[in-house]
Amino acid sequence: MLKPVTSDMPLACRPHDHSHCVSHALQSAESLCEQRGLRLTTLRKRVLELVWASHKPLGAYDILAVLSETDGRRAAPPTVYRALDFLLEHGLVHRIASLNAFVGCNHPGKVHQGQFLICRNCHAAVELLRSNIDAAVLASAASVGFSVEGQTVEISGLCAACKENP
Ligand SMILES: [Zn+2]
Ligand SMILES: [Zn+2]
Ligand SMILES: [Zn+2]
Repeated sequence: MLKPVTSDMPLACRPHDHSHCVSHALQSAESLCEQRGLRLTTLRKRVLELVWASHKPLGAYDILAVLSETDGRRAAPPTVYRALDFLLEHGLVHRIASLNAFVGCNHPGKVHQGQFLICRNCHAAVELLRSNIDAAVLASAASVGFSVEGQTVEISGLCAACKENP
């Protein structure tokens, strides 16, 4: 028997009003930038909005394509890359190395690396924030004398919704 998509599943894996995710993300970005005295320029905000178009990580080329399509003129790649660097640096987006793509962060302003469950079917990336995983990675690395500089963990598989409704 198929289990219904339930509310204890991560938002990224079930139908929801995504416009709330987008407005929440843009609001948090604005207040974070204000607190830290950073400038959320029109382009930075636009790029963040595009990354948040869905819970699917988006590549820089996709962002460039949408920008030149919707804004009429060709967006210069270096400016878009700089906007992405800004968003990365300030924890507003994460880079998913295995997909060479970016995904919005649910907890900006909090120092974290995050673990991602990446669905191979719908491509949604669900961010987990488990400090015990961070701690286990740090301890294991330290035990072999390795200094960790980044520890984004990417786990591939099938999300609950895709597993229930193949
Ligand atoms: Zn959403
Ligand atoms: Zn995050
Ligand atoms: Zn899925």
